[in-house]
This record gives sequence, structure tokens and C-alpha cells, in this order.
Amino acid sequence: MGKVINSAEYLLNQLGELSYHLTNVPHQDQSYFEKPLQIINQALGFHISVLYKIANVIENDVILEVMTVCNPDHIRPDLVEGAKICLDTAHPRVEFTNEVMAFKNRNVSAINVPGWGCDIVGSIYLPENLGHGYLLAGDFFGDESDTQEHEVRACEIMCNMLSSVLMKTQFEKLASYDGLTGLLNSRAIREELEKAFQRQKRKNTWSGAVVLADIDYFKKINDTYGHIQGDSVLQEVGRLFDASIRKHLDVAGRYGGEEFLLIYEDSEADQVLNIVGRLRQTIEDHPFKKIGPNGNPLDGEYLKVTMSFGVALLNDPSIENSKEILALADSALYLSKTGGRNRVTLGKRE
Ligand code: GH3
Ligand code: MG
Ligand code: MG
Repeated sequence: MGKVINSAEYLLNQLGELSYHLTNVPHQDQSYFEKPLQIINQALGFHISVLYKIANVIENDVILEVMTVCNPDHIRPDLVEGAKICLDTAHPRVEFTNEVMAFKNRNVSAINVPGWGCDIVGSIYLPENLGHGYLLAGDFFGDESDTQEHEVRACEIMCNMLSSVLMKTQFEKLASYDGLTGLLNSRAIREELEKAFQRQKRKNTWSGAVVLADIDYFKKINDTYGHIQGDSVLQEVGRLFDASIRKHLDVAGRYGGEEFLLIYEDSEADQVLNIVGRLRQTIEDHPFKKIGPNGNPLDGEYLKVTMSFGVALLNDPSIENSKEILALADSALYLSKTGGRNRVTLGKRE
């Protein structure tokens, strides 16, 4: 097998395409990497390309997870998707010399590794709180990899592009989620409501519901056991809500303080009332962890918590905007509260 000769002009065009791809593909991490793997494989002429995720870094050890391998001729049976490799960066195994150098220097390393071992490795940097980043590698099968300077530069540009785009999407994600409960934050859930409302309006089908949910006597929990306990209850409610929603169909968010908003699109009233009824029961039955004085949960000690719900159906074409639906859900929630709490009320328009 000989190395495919590539020109700098061809590579520049490929990088231009990558730039277009990164700004236009939906924000799902995996698809970001298809084009760069293809560039290493086809445009740079390496026989295989590999994407490693840096799964963890513990003292001198770096744990790499093989995410994707393009290996049409099966020449690296050691690199299998899903495999985890633990590298001692102080004494790297010879076949991973390049990976360790790229990780340590956060740069591209390219050398001819005798025997098995990738010939070029680039580092895709992410700050630690966003994950540890990725390595992107190419292996040329043969004695000489003959890696050219412009190929190293192309790899470097690709890695920097990927790093920037991933950081941007991760920061966007951080900006949409509530740090405590992991649900959509107030701004994001309001945006989702507006989008859902516009979709229903366009489709003219008008089915679905908006639900406001509020923890009963939450102030008492804070006053009796402290804010750490209150926060722990909010976190557990967040987890129970997340587990209850049908992924890709419903959305849940923290509307504010101890109030949550759920959106069920394209669902019938009975169905939504059933789901919300079950959710109310789940909260009532759930043993909420009791937090001890040092902030850790106490073994075998639990709290009881209940929630009240107000449901507004998206079934009325005369509703002008999403604020009206929220107001309807809010007045239904108020009826649940004044009616004794721990209940679900369906809002009715006058
Ligand atoms: P009701 O049954 O009528 O809903 O009574 P309530 O006590 O739950 O409602 P109220 O609105 O009187 O109190 C809500 C409390 O929630 C007051 C506020 O300090 C607390 N709270 C809001 N956000 C947070 C938070 O992030 N963490 C904690 N621990 N408490 C919060
Ligand atoms: Mg409350
Ligand atoms: Mg409240």
C-alpha cells in the first residue's frame, strides 16, 4: 500500500468543507467527528483514522476510549470501538508514544512509530469542567509514514476548529440547563413553551398540555432542615421529573425556585392527566433523602414531600399566546393549593 499524495490546495478545500460542516450539522457531538475522520483517512491519505475520547485523567494515567475507527482493511485489530486503553504517561507503551505526546503537549505529534502505532495524533482540547477532550489520530500502514509539514498543519487546524465548536456547544448547553436539577432552566423552558405553542398553531391540531408543578410547604423544609436539605429535595424532584418524561416527546424544566414546568405535545387530555397523576403519586411515595449536619444523607432516614399540579390543555384555538396557557396552568395550580395540596387540577377557561 502506498501513501496517497495530497496537495495543499486539496487539503484547504477539505478544511473549508469541514468548517461548513461544523457550522451546519445539528449539535450532536458524534457527527462533528465524521468529517475530520474522513479527512485524515481520505484527504491526508492515512489508511486508518481514529477518534479517542479522553475518558479520565488520574495522576499519571490517561484513560482513552476508542470512539470511532475508520479501518477498512482491518490493519489495527487492537483499535476496536468501545475499547478502553490506560496509558501511563510517565512510561508510555511504544505504540502509544504519539498519543501521549499529543495529550501532554496539547498539540499535534507526528512521527514514524516502528511497528504498530499511529503516525499522527492531534489533540482536541476542552477545559476540564467540559470533559477532558479528544485525540484524533491517523495511521499509515507501511514502513514510512512520510508525513508532510502541511499535513501536520491541516491536522492542527482541524483539531483547533473542533475544539472551538465543541466548547461553543458545551457552553450553550450549560447556558440552557439548571445547574441544580439538571432540567432545562427557566429561560430555556419558556422558549420551549413558545416553540411548542407556535408549532401547535401552525399545525392547527391543538393537542397537548402545559403543567405547572410546585412543591408543597417547601419553605417549611428549608426552615426546618436548612437550605442544603431544600436543594437536595429539588435535585431529587428534578431526577424524578426527568425519569417520568417520554424522551424526545415531552420536556421538563425548572420554572423558578421550587416550581417546575412540563410540556406534553400531541397528547390527549386523558393521557396527560394519567401521566401527571402518576407523577404526583411517585413524588408522594418517594423516600427523599434526609441530609445530616455535615451535608451527607443520613442512612435510612427519609422525608415525605408532596407536590401540587395545574394542567392547561393546548386544545383551544382561541388561546392567543403562550402566556395565556401559563396563566391557565397557574390558576389551576392555585386551585390545587387551596383545595388541600398534593393534587392535580385541570384548568378551565371561563
Ligand atoms: P406552598 O405549598 O403554598 O407552595 O408553600 P411553599 O412553602 O412551598 O411556598 P413559598 O412560596 O412560601 O416558599 C417557597 C420557598 O422556596 C421560599 C424559597 O426560599 C425557597 N426556594 C426557592 N428557590 C430555592 C432553592 O434554589 N433552594 C432552596 N433550598 N430553597 C429555595
Ligand atoms: Mg411551594
Ligand atoms: Mg412556589
